[in-house]
Amino acid sequence: MHRTAAGTGATSAAGGERAESRSPAAGQDDPVAAVLRVLRGGERFLVCSHSRPDGDAVGSMLALGMLLRQMGKCADLVTADRIPAVYRGLPNADWVQTTLRVHSHYDAAILLECDGIERTRLRGLEDLPLINIDHHLTGREFAAVNWIDHKAVSVGEMVYRLMLATGAKLTPEMATCLYTTLLTDTGGFLYGAVRASTFALARELVAAGADPIAIAHEVYFSVSPSKLLLLGAALRRLKRKGRLAWLWVTQQDMVRSCAAEEDCEGIVNIALGIAGVDVAVFLRELPEGLIRLSLRSRGVVNVAEVAARLGGGGHGNAAGCTLLGPLPRAIEEILSELRKAADHTAARRAEMA
Ligand code: 5GP
Ligand code: MN
Repeated sequence: MHRTAAGTGATSAAGGERAESRSPAAGQDDPVAAVLRVLRGGERFLVCSHSRPDGDAVGSMLALGMLLRQMGKCADLVTADRIPAVYRGLPNADWVQTTLRVHSHYDAAILLECDGIERTRLRGLEDLPLINIDHHLTGREFAAVNWIDHKAVSVGEMVYRLMLATGAKLTPEMATCLYTTLLTDTGGFLYGAVRASTFALARELVAAGADPIAIAHEVYFSVSPSKLLLLGAALRRLKRKGRLAWLWVTQQDMVRSCAAEEDCEGIVNIALGIAGVDVAVFLRELPEGLIRLSLRSRGVVNVAEVAARLGGGGHGNAAGCTLLGPLPRAIEEILSELRKAADHTAARRAEMA
């Protein structure tokens, strides 16, 4: 572990608290400098993120695309899935192309928020030099250059630090995209690694032209009727046992509600909002019979560890994975893992007391 030099400048809002970062060259090289060296030395870059992109994936890709273009570079932005409707109004959102295969005529591909190339669901990345920028607890050093900072609230915060290090100008369009990453990865400044520097950065972004009210309305007050129908189906199935709550939707619910994948976002938080509940799970049956899980914790149980044991990953209080169906089997498996994790946490706490 060593500390990043970037983000510590006098003008850095996020620099109040330095972040810990990991890189293969730890001790010799600063990962921000290593990323910058590759960016400065190349001309054409591919910017991508995970499949089913969320606010951090979209906002940080767009901001990085704008930064690269300011630096005089070519930047192509790609994702395997279409970006959700609530993010399609972001500045330059039309730069993001949806494809399943990428070409190899780039100097490097920059992967944001991914623990490996598989998470992008893009083919063709294996032939390219890779840069990995991530903030997940379960992040892995799979690339030629790795910058993993699990204290960053969003990858957007890391793109902001990269921007400071380049000396580029923070435009209102970049500020809007970066603010969106902060807002969404903290669920509206409600969870995650929110701390004083988060608000300092938010202030900086609003001063640079991000409109916090307009962004919040776009993200949170634009619910589609199909999402409400789906939520109704999920709530009818809400179960609770002690500190655990879970709910699910079947493929039939998805079809009946005319719901898209993005309509599932946020449903799990309603279960976590129940008084006395510490951990919540939302399960969704996929068309091919697999089950997607969203896990949320108030903080005592580390759901990233649980998800990683099941082949997924994420943050301590927000993680996900995919299990084999059918639904009752997947529910049994996740509840058993979560109970084990809760018992283990309780035992660890008792030892420390
Ligand atoms: P969500 O429940 O919103 O889909 O995901 C919560 C968090 O866990 C996000 O930060 C997301 O990137 C991460 N996550 C979800 N599913 C997976 C997965 O299958 N693998 C990994 N590595 N991370 C995941
Ligand atoms: Mn993120």
